[in-house]
Amino acid sequence: MPPIQYTVAVRELCEFAAKQGDLDLRFTPSPTAEEGRAGHKTVASRRGPSHRAEVAVAGAFRELVVRGRADGFDDSKGLLEEVKTHRGDFELIPSNHRALHWAQAKIYGHLVCQQFGLSKLTLSLVYFEIGSECETPLTEHCTADELRQVFDALCMRFLDWAQRQLEHRAARDASLLSLQFPHAAFRTGQRTLAESTFRAATLGRCLLAQAPTGIGKTMATIFPLLKAAPQERLDKIFFLTAKGPGRALALDAIDVLRRSRPSISVRVIELVARETACEHPDKACHGGSCPLAKGFYDKLARARGAAAGLETLTRETLRKVALEHEVCPYYLSQEMVRWADVVVGDYNYYFDSAALLHGMTRASEWRVAVLVDEAHNLVDRARAMYSADLEAHVVRAVFKTAPVALRGPIGKLKRAVDTLAKGQEDAYKAYEEVPQRLTASLKDVSAAVSEHLATGPDAVDPDLLRLYFDVLRFVSLGESFSTHSLFDVSRSSQAGKARRARDATLCIRNVTPAPFLRPRFASAQTVVLFSATLSPHHFYADALGVPDDTAWLEVESPFTPDQLDVRIVSDVSTRFNHRQRSLAKISRLMATHYGSAPGNYLAFFSSFDYAEQAFEEFNRQHPAVPVWCQQRRMDGKERAAFLARFVHDGSGIGFAVLGGAFAEGIDLPGSRLVGAFVATLGLPQVNPVNEEMKRRLDLTAGDGYGYTYLYPGIRKIVQAAGRVIRTSDDRGHLFLIDDRFGRPEVKRLLPAWWRMQTCTSDACRPISPSRTRQPYAASEGDGAAGALQASEVLCSSSTMSFDSVTPSDASSSAPGAKATNSPA
Ligand code: SF4
Repeated sequence: MPPIQYTVAVRELCEFAAKQGDLDLRFTPSPTAEEGRAGHKTVASRRGPSHRAEVAVAGAFRELVVRGRADGFDDSKGLLEEVKTHRGDFELIPSNHRALHWAQAKIYGHLVCQQFGLSKLTLSLVYFEIGSECETPLTEHCTADELRQVFDALCMRFLDWAQRQLEHRAARDASLLSLQFPHAAFRTGQRTLAESTFRAATLGRCLLAQAPTGIGKTMATIFPLLKAAPQERLDKIFFLTAKGPGRALALDAIDVLRRSRPSISVRVIELVARETACEHPDKACHGGSCPLAKGFYDKLARARGAAAGLETLTRETLRKVALEHEVCPYYLSQEMVRWADVVVGDYNYYFDSAALLHGMTRASEWRVAVLVDEAHNLVDRARAMYSADLEAHVVRAVFKTAPVALRGPIGKLKRAVDTLAKGQEDAYKAYEEVPQRLTASLKDVSAAVSEHLATGPDAVDPDLLRLYFDVLRFVSLGESFSTHSLFDVSRSSQAGKARRARDATLCIRNVTPAPFLRPRFASAQTVVLFSATLSPHHFYADALGVPDDTAWLEVESPFTPDQLDVRIVSDVSTRFNHRQRSLAKISRLMATHYGSAPGNYLAFFSSFDYAEQAFEEFNRQHPAVPVWCQQRRMDGKERAAFLARFVHDGSGIGFAVLGGAFAEGIDLPGSRLVGAFVATLGLPQVNPVNEEMKRRLDLTAGDGYGYTYLYPGIRKIVQAAGRVIRTSDDRGHLFLIDDRFGRPEVKRLLPAWWRMQTCTSDACRPISPSRTRQPYAASEGDGAAGALQASEVLCSSSTMSFDSVTPSDASSSAPGAKATNSPA
């Protein structure tokens, strides 16, 4: 059923229709959310008994329903208050911000007049300064008729947009009802994943899905969610990725759907990082500096209208529209999120602490479905999002150049950092809590710099600003500090006390992001997290904090054991102390195997040092074999050159680092890659930080070794090994070189379809070269589009629909899947 009304919050209405003038993102210190809430409470507590706070109001204008909560209303005085908290001089609040605040006050004024049958009202815009707790009230007396006119004018401006949204929504839903799978048939395992995704959406549950590479996971998740969108009244689908290539896959998948069914009406937007979209990286985001910020809101309606005429807004198309209308492409993309049905962007946009998509979802009460691509990356990415550090040398440097007014608090912070660092004998130490003296000095610096910035200084030292942001982050994470995080101090040297104080780094280090991510999962109708490597699933469920009723799906591999010859080489240890001794054996093993089965190979090692040593040893012993080695900090061109050496039917060995750029997310089908040597168990380095994480995870999850070392390590092995077999036509070899691969607890974590044999480095039965060469069938293309086209050839029926799927359980019981409810 298409919606017949469009509901909008007062704030959203005003931000859409009442903003004027320049985009101005000059840094103005604003109160934190906590301070804002406290400020509102303080104001309310100063009012008399007839004052009512947080009054829910709603009204309509044709198809538009406008609703919100007025900050304060006193019936006996006919007084409506709109409270705004700020920091610093009231006069420094930009006039266009004040105009927006007045617009909000007047919209609330109209809704209150209507709701309470008033003919006039006194509006008071109360600015509350956080530091001094002083109020600056601005007052206007308005008749109900005047307020209605403001309401009508803003609604009229919004209505055109809202009506188009409603029309599009009806057309979108009608077109999606007849959406069909774009290929003749599903690939093995693809249907299972698609059905489970559909069921998860219809049941409003989350799904953790492990599905092998090559089954078309992107299409298997986007297609069912689009299919489910009309009946589940989904407003938006967010496709979130860890890296750029994932975004391209999602955009390609929607392109394929459109080409197979031109009548479908789905709007798509790609969000990229500010650094990528910015046209003037040397300028600041305000009208006085950047020409694309000048008059941004005055030009926005036309730019928005032009962008809305397209079906897909990629980085390139958005840029074109934005430049034609002389507005910033990055901020135009944020405005267009409201317009889109599918938003493709980085994890940050939904999971970070101030994430745009999550904020909009909450504010607009959207029903959203979230797809998390390559979800194994989310654990580390989320840990980084909820960690903060503070470097002693930055505090010292800023102290030396700080304005006089800031020297006191920054000096206090410097002393607090010094005391911690000098008093610590060990190079690394974790503390039970963030010391109170440090917390107090951090808060003082935060308040003092805020005051300073609020005076509108002509120029701000970038180092001071950097310290300020570090401090804000530290304070914010310090307030939520708990067993999910560590507070630690590390130093790079054991030198004297003065040196220790200089090179110390203080860190709030998130270990378990679950408490931060839980509300993100709760805000969505469904979240589907998928990857080829999500084992063991309880590790990901615990670390990410997915809801208790999250379903677990393991899609069986479409590949067969005879496609991959897996050898565990049991007489080599790649432990740190044994590496030197391992080089000759590894080199001999590789040469022997390569001699009997030549082709392109990747050889993975635990570090650059180890890879370089192995590369040199091999090159010295076997100079006739073409070899090339990954270098530290390769740029895009160098990475492409490394991969370009893997030509069809070529021969040679590329040495690389496990967990690096060539161990995940690269596609070398057919004879471009016939095997891999993995000379490491992939375990993260044993160091004081990891040992502390292990201790903490022992306490909180009961499996410190698994959660810190084993599971992340084996995941990297499986990802790297996954480069060898990309299609059902591929055949290849995999050598797992370390005695520990033979342990049952390690074997258990390796893919069930691998048939492993154990051998020694000098007795691995040579394999016929003909076996290596013969079965490869060259792929049409290496990228996403190629993979999807290949699927069209494979498929034989295009009539798949989900009509028969019963929403009994989000876990699939279809053949080709193992499904259980997660014990998370
Ligand atoms: S173009 Fe760059 S500097 Fe200008 S407003 Fe956009 S992001 Fe800011």
